[in-house]
Amino acid sequence: MWFRRDLRLADHPALSAAASAGRVVGLFIVNRDILSGTGPARAHFLHECLTDLRSATDEALVLREGPDSEVLQDICRESGATSVFATADHAPYGRRRDAAVAAALAAEGITLQLIDSNYLVTPGSILNKTGTPFKVFTAFRRVWDQFSVPTPLPVPSGIEWWRGESLLPSRICEVAATQRPVFFGGLPDSASGVHRGGESIAREVLDNFAPRVDAYDEIRNLPGRDETSRLGPHLRFGTIHPRQVLAATGDYSDGSRVFASEICWREFYADVMFHHPDSVHVNLQSSMDALRVDVGASAEEKFRQWARGETGYPLVDAGMRQLLEEGWMHNRVRMVTASFLIKHLHLDWRWGARWFMWNLVDGDIASNQHGWQWTAGTGTDASPYYRVFNPTLQAERFDPHGTYVHRFIPELVATPAPQCLQPGGGEGLLRPASYPAPMIDAAAERVEALARLAEAKEVR
Ligand SMILES: Cc1cc2nc3c(=O)[nH]c(=O)nc-3n(C[C@H](O)[C@H](O)[C@H](O)COP(=O)(O)OP(=O)(O)OC[C@H]3O[C@@H](n4cnc5c(N)ncnc54)[C@H](O)[C@@H]3O)c2cc1C
Repeated sequence: MWFRRDLRLADHPALSAAASAGRVVGLFIVNRDILSGTGPARAHFLHECLTDLRSATDEALVLREGPDSEVLQDICRESGATSVFATADHAPYGRRRDAAVAAALAAEGITLQLIDSNYLVTPGSILNKTGTPFKVFTAFRRVWDQFSVPTPLPVPSGIEWWRGESLLPSRICEVAATQRPVFFGGLPDSASGVHRGGESIAREVLDNFAPRVDAYDEIRNLPGRDETSRLGPHLRFGTIHPRQVLAATGDYSDGSRVFASEICWREFYADVMFHHPDSVHVNLQSSMDALRVDVGASAEEKFRQWARGETGYPLVDAGMRQLLEEGWMHNRVRMVTASFLIKHLHLDWRWGARWFMWNLVDGDIASNQHGWQWTAGTGTDASPYYRVFNPTLQAERFDPHGTYVHRFIPELVATPAPQCLQPGGGEGLLRPASYPAPMIDAAAERVEALARLAEAKEVR
C-alpha cells in the first residue's frame, strides 16, 4: 500500500483492497520534487500525519527516500510484493508520476492498482450531455449533488503488516528545509505546528465542527469569528476523506448545504485541473495573456511588502500576517489579499500563488491555482477582472469591529474600529506611527487596473 495523499486507515478503499490481497507493506516515499514546494507549516503537518499513521500501524509504516519507481521496485523485491495499491492522484504531477511508475513496475511484472480518489466524485467523471466538462460551477454542482454519500468504510480488521527498515517522519522536515526556493529569499517563513496533523486529529476537528455546521452560512465570511472547519489540511493530506466529512455534516440545513457547496468547489477545481493540467501555470482564459503586469526590482519590492503584511491596508496586512503566523488564512481574506496583489499592485497572479502554495498548510495545487485564477479573472467561472475588491470596504463589511485586524496587527490594537480598518490605521493625530502608511492609493490603482484591462481587450 503506497500512501500519498491518503494518510489514514479508515474509509480507505485502496487499503481495504490491499488488505484483502494479503500481507500489507505500508509505504510512504519521501519525494524531493514535492517537498521542493512545501514550506515549513505544511512539512511539519505532514511529519505529524506520518507519525500518527506509523503509530496507528504499530510502527509498521515504512518511510523510504528516493525516486518513486526505484523505491517501489526495491521494496517489492525485499518484501515479495507483486501488486502495488494506491489511491489515484488526479493532479498533473501525480498523473505523470503514476504513469511512469506503472510502466517501471510492469517491466518487473508488478501491477500498480489505482483505486478510489481523494474526492467524493472522481475528477473527470462529471460531463455534460455533449460529453464535455462543465465550465461553470453551478452546472457542475447540480450534477455533483446527485451523487449520494456512501457510508464510510471501517478500518480493515486484522491487517497483517510487513515490517522493514524505515526513516523517521522527521526526515520530511529535514528534506523540505534543504529545498527552500531562492525566489523568496529575504522573506520570513510561516510558523509550523499551529495545525496538528494525523487521522485522529482530523476526526477530532470534524467532531468539533459538525455540530456547528448549521451556522456555517452565516459565519463563514467573518474572519474575526474564525469558525470555519479548518479541515483544509486534513483534506489535503487525506487524513480524512470528503465522504467522511459529508457523512458527518449532512445536507439538512442552510449551513450544511453551503458547507457542502464549499467541498464541491474543491471538487470542481480538481475537475478543471484534470481537464486542463497546464492551468497550474497558464491562464485558463488565454485572452487574459495580454494583460500587462509589472516586473523588475520595484515590482519585487512591492511583492515583499505585500508578503510581509506591510501594505498599510489593515485587512490585507492582517491576512498576510495570519499566513505567516499560522500557515493559514481565512477564505474571505485570501480573496482580498489576492485581489490586492493582482489589481492594486499589478503583479502576476503566479507570484502570489507561489507564495501561498509555499506557506499554506492546506496548500493544494488545484484549489490554490484556481483560487488565484478566479480572483485574477483568468480562470473558468471566474470573478470578472473588472470586479476589484476594495480592501477598506471589505474590512468594514466583514470585520466591522476590527477583531481580526486587532488579532494580527499589534500596532493597531489600541486603535478602535472603524479607524483601525482605514488605510494606514486612520488619519490625523490618532494614526499609530508604528503602522505603515498605505503603500499605494487603492482608488488610483483601481483606475489603472481597469485601464490595463481595456488595453488588453484592444490587443486581442
Ligand atoms: C487565492 C486563494 C487561494 C486558495 N488556496 C487554497 C489551497 O491552497 N488549498 C485549499 O484547500 N483551499 C484554498 N483556497 C480555498 C479556501 O480559502 C480554503 O479551502 C479555506 O479557507 C480553508 O479553510 P477551512 O478548511 O476552514 O474551510 P471551510 O470554509 O471550512 O470549508 C471546508 C472545505 O471546503 C473546501 N473549500 C472551501 N472553500 C473553498 C474554495 N473556495 N475553493 C476550493 N475549496 C474550498 C476546503 O477543502 C475546505 O477545507 C484558496 C482560496 C483563494 C481565494
